[in-house]
Amino acid sequence: MNKRIVIIGGVAGGATAAARARRSDESAEITILERGGYISFANCGLPYYISGDIKSRSNLILQTPESFYSRYKIQVKLNTEATQINRTEKFVLAGTEKYYYDKLILSQGANPILPEIPGISKENSFTLRDIDDMDKIHNFIDSNSPKTAVVVGGGFIGIEMAEALVERGLKVSLIEKYKHLMPIADPEFGESIRRAFIEKGVNVITSDAAAGYKPSEKKIILETGNELSADMILFSIGVRPELELIKQTGLEIGKTGGVIVNEFMQSSDPDIYVVGDMAEITNRITGDKTRIPLAGPANRQGRIAGDNVCGGKKKYTGSIGSSVVKVFDKVFAMTGLTEKQAKNLEASSVTVHPNHHAGYYPGAKQLSLKLTFSNKTGKVLGAQAFGSEGVEKRVDVIATAIIGGLHIEDLEELDLCYAPPFSSANDPVNMASFVSSNHKAGFSPTVTVEEFITKQKNDNSIFVIDVRNPDEYKKGNIAGAVNIPLPEMRDRLSEIPKDKEIYVHCQVGFRGHLANRILLQSGFKNVFNISGGYKSLELLSA
Ligand code: FAD
Repeated sequence: MNKRIVIIGGVAGGATAAARARRSDESAEITILERGGYISFANCGLPYYISGDIKSRSNLILQTPESFYSRYKIQVKLNTEATQINRTEKFVLAGTEKYYYDKLILSQGANPILPEIPGISKENSFTLRDIDDMDKIHNFIDSNSPKTAVVVGGGFIGIEMAEALVERGLKVSLIEKYKHLMPIADPEFGESIRRAFIEKGVNVITSDAAAGYKPSEKKIILETGNELSADMILFSIGVRPELELIKQTGLEIGKTGGVIVNEFMQSSDPDIYVVGDMAEITNRITGDKTRIPLAGPANRQGRIAGDNVCGGKKKYTGSIGSSVVKVFDKVFAMTGLTEKQAKNLEASSVTVHPNHHAGYYPGAKQLSLKLTFSNKTGKVLGAQAFGSEGVEKRVDVIATAIIGGLHIEDLEELDLCYAPPFSSANDPVNMASFVSSNHKAGFSPTVTVEEFITKQKNDNSIFVIDVRNPDEYKKGNIAGAVNIPLPEMRDRLSEIPKDKEIYVHCQVGFRGHLANRILLQSGFKNVFNISGGYKSLELLSA
């Protein structure tokens, strides 16, 4: 008898698994059960239809049951919710219909978390997960012409939706309960994102949360008691795996709240595979269990499960969480571990702020790139970047380095494409690795802004030198910093105490590095360059 493969959920992981299974087994009977009215739609594109960037709604619908059948001979049952899995008899119940399986793949995704807030009604509050949600938001804006919106939650979807609503002409407030937007990132990047929003007139409120809604006045009440006008509200405070079926079925769920799977994407029942946002996976760097609700991992896990249900033995080795988000004309991207995530791993981080291509070629834009690495082994652990151009390219290079198990010394040697319109002879990735290697070797020790601020708070004996020129210093400086411009340093060494820890900084880090070298070669022992200089410092002292 032909193998029967049933798949629950027909979008990122599910549709990929089905198509891959067909490529492996031409004779299998493959059926997708999808609760919604669409398969294989582009969830990641939903905010960009609301913004108006994507003009045609049909561009988001990548396949139909007919196109899927004609290409893959896969049965797609839309508007069909699986309500029970019978593991003994091996069938899935949807309505009154039983779908018998030899192998079952679950890719049910995750639901947006909806907080319980008094006064909120479905009329004008939304979450965004699928085409129906998108249509509701789009139609609400078209029919009601709201003037103001509050977006609750400053992560990826909140950021994309705040931008989309601005593009639709609304006055937007973006609320984040943590101190910085994009709480998963290091705080200076959250601050850069905040500034990008402020530039576009968005009211960004951090360290506060929605606590209630006054429908008569259309106002959100915040925990602090402040009120914000909100003709519409969008909640984007995170997602929770869809586990109703799994719980009834008795499959094991891990501490992270995702379904436990092995490296073949098999759950605790070897005939049931689980992929995508529902699955508990391994962080490829730390080996810790985690959930990474992103499209790339879901697609790759789906592909692996599609192979394995047909007898393959493909392994999923985990994710490093590479991700990117557009903030109007700026971009933030990250991969691997941040400074705060790597805190207990004997790791260091450095920041550089080079141009994205040669400064002398028109259109050069500064970007900020932070590289995190093991201080013991030099292994590359993570990167974050913010800027206008070339941001994700650098982060993608570093993501590749992480997967390849490369070290900062390898990044120094990386031959990357160069011509002035594209990069510099030393690409920002090379630059970040030079600074990292100089630090690791003790040639030019650095501290991160975070480390410096903590040090400054706890130790008033440190000596801080600002090596920028007096004009730069006058425009803004950090409390207690003595201005010794780099060109004067060799003549003013006597002003610097030999018995104190010395922290130097310039605007972006390079002159601080030169000062470090002068001081270290002049008999000073405990000297540190504040990585990223005043540009980074100023972001965190805001
Ligand atoms: P999904 O793609 O969500 O598919 C699950 C499907 O299962 C759903 O269609 C659901 O209806 C169906 N289902 C659930 N239960 C049942 C049932 N009992 N019976 C039948 N069907 C069922 N990731 C990125 O990497 N980059 C991005 O830019 C990005 N942007 C995003 C923007 C938005 C607005 C959203 C919502 C997500 C975005 N993501 C992004 C995340 C990405 O879309 C998800 O990680 C990915 O879709 C997860 O794939 P999945 O197969 O696990 O679940």
